[in-house]
This record gives sequence, structure tokens and C-alpha cells, in this order.
Amino acid sequence: MRKPIVAGNWKMHNTVGESIELAAEVKRHVAEIDAVEIVLCPPFTALKSVGDLVRYGNIGLGAQTVHPEPQGAFTGEISTAMLSDLDCAYVVVGHSERRTLFGETDAGVRRKVEAVLDAGMRPIVCVGETLEQRDAGQADDVVREQVRAALTELNRELRDTVVAYEPVWAIGTGRTASPETAQAAHALIRATIAELATAAVADEVRIQYGGSVKPDNAVELFGCPDIDGGLIGGAALDAGAFVKIVRAML
Ligand code: PEP
Repeated sequence: MRKPIVAGNWKMHNTVGESIELAAEVKRHVAEIDAVEIVLCPPFTALKSVGDLVRYGNIGLGAQTVHPEPQGAFTGEISTAMLSDLDCAYVVVGHSERRTLFGETDAGVRRKVEAVLDAGMRPIVCVGETLEQRDAGQADDVVREQVRAALTELNRELRDTVVAYEPVWAIGTGRTASPETAQAAHALIRATIAELATAAVADEVRIQYGGSVKPDNAVELFGCPDIDGGLIGGAALDAGAFVKIVRAML
């Protein structure tokens, strides 16, 4: 059985003080939940404070991106060692904002996946098609290719990776994929992982849905057989909404 995982991606929101306040509020309301893995991904500047606050509890810490090189002259970047030093368990890799705004490529995503796994953390690999690609009937090919590029011949267990299906047209737009559309994409991703590894491994990989998940659509989406949780952007900035979304997975 796959343990569902719901992660909050706070993006470039919240000072350290605001992050502590938000994490503390989430922590207060999820203390008794152990059937869902809960992960908070604050901005880099708040990782230490939020990590200290959630340590020894049932909330995991995640980073929003990382540089694939172990160290060096990469001004402004953060390495995997720096993240694991702060007890990060997860790193979001290949978020569509990184791909479109910061030029992250499939090859770059792949290097990050390897670096994260090498450091003993787990990547949350984001994939998803744009509206143009969906309208052109290319959604399946695009998603399949992103999954393959990120995960093919990794030479290690894919069980430790999480994939997030995030149709770009649904991120931050208030437009959500219907449960049918999301389920079909998730089934495709699982089938692709089965081709890369085995059906048994694919059966263990958690696949999150992301894209305007809110308390009022979470139950329906999370009820789909291949949807194992969510990667939550906007609604994760509101503790009450985020907790409701976590509870929708119970
Ligand atoms: C995201 O940033 O990964 C995301 C899904 O954002 P939102 O929930 O705001 O659509």
C-alpha cells in the first residue's frame, strides 16, 4: 500500500517569522495524523527554522529546488549537502516554474534527481503539459517523455522518488484537471515507470496531483486510484485550507 503524501510548496512566500507561524499552525492541526505523509517546502531562508519546529513530529521538510553539483562557484545556488544538513527529506525538482522561468531542462532535471538520491533525500519530480500541448493532443507524449528523461536507467530503486503530475495550465490558475483527466495522466505515469523498472516498483511509487488543489476539490481528486496525494501551492499558504486538503486524503 502506498502511503499518501501531501506537500505544501510555499514558493517565494513568507519571511522566517511568517513561515514559523504557518508551520506551527499546520503542526497544531495535524499532530494525530499518521496515515498521510505531510511535507512543508518553505523558501530556503526558512528551512532551518521550520525544520527545527517540525523535528521529531509527523511533518517532513522539503526544499523547492537544488543545484546538481556538490559544491563550487555557483553564486546563489544551494547544494544537496546543504539541504540534508538541515534535515530536508525531499526536494522538489523540475517544477514548471523552474522549467519555464529559469530554463530548467529535462536533462537538468535528471541531474538533480540523481544528486538528490545520491544525498539520501527523495526527489519530488514535477511533470506536466502546457495548455498548448494538451490542445494539440500532445499531453501524453510530453508527460511520458518527461518521466522517462527524469527516471530512465537511474540504476537504483525508483521507489524513493515521488512524481507530481502538474498540468501547467492548472498551476495557480484556479483551473483544476478533472478527476478523469488527472487519473488518466497518473495511470500513464505509473505505466511509464513500470516500463522503466517493474510493475511492482511502479506500484509503490507515489504520484501526487498538483494544480489548483483546494479543500473543495481535493476529496474528488484524491479518490482516484492512482492519485496518492497532492503538491499544493496557493492553498498551502493558508494553514486551514492546507490541513483540510491533508484530511481529504484520510
Ligand atoms: C504548485 O505550485 O506546485 C501548484 C500546484 O500550485 P497551485 O496549487 O497554486 O496551483
